[in-house]
Amino acid sequence: MAKVKILIEGYSGGETKGHSCSTIVLIQDKGINIVVDPGTLPNQNLLKDKLKQENLTVKDITHVFITHSHMDHYRNIGMFPTAKTIDFWGLWEGDVWKKQDKKITKDISFVKTAGHSDDSVTLLVKTKKGVIAICGDVFWKKNMPEKDNFANDHLKLNQSRKKILELADYIIPGHGGMFKV
Ligand SMILES: [Zn+2]
Repeated sequence: MAKVKILIEGYSGGETKGHSCSTIVLIQDKGINIVVDPGTLPNQNLLKDKLKQENLTVKDITHVFITHSHMDHYRNIGMFPTAKTIDFWGLWEGDVWKKQDKKITKDISFVKTAGHSDDSVTLLVKTKKGVIAICGDVFWKKNMPEKDNFANDHLKLNQSRKKILELADYIIPGHGGMFKV
């Protein structure tokens, strides 16, 4: 079974006065260390320190996964010198692009969840607790936003939300902490 840990809980919205960063998540599964949405952050050392607490350095990160191509989710993608990067379009290894199977390992896969953006994808991770969905901005926070003013297709977004709620036991949203379905 894979392990999922929130390294940094994301934030955004009126109360953060213009500050915005995605929730940054670590997934570990048999020699694989995936950082999901390395975010913006005021200072990259915040994330390096969180990795250190897990006995990891940036070089131990094998993959960076990007849920969708909005800057608040991917600005720090360059922090991990040896990581492969995966997004909606496939996998990059250095300057080489390859197709990526939706099943990354036995316990880690992703599904397309368009709506907030056309290229939104959601990771589904089988853990001891159950299936955890890491969904980018399909949800920003628990039950939020009801109406996503940044979504480019509200109908698709609603379908994607339904899909995730059916598939997952827990959800890690784009800018908040984990909640139970
Ligand atoms: Zn976002």
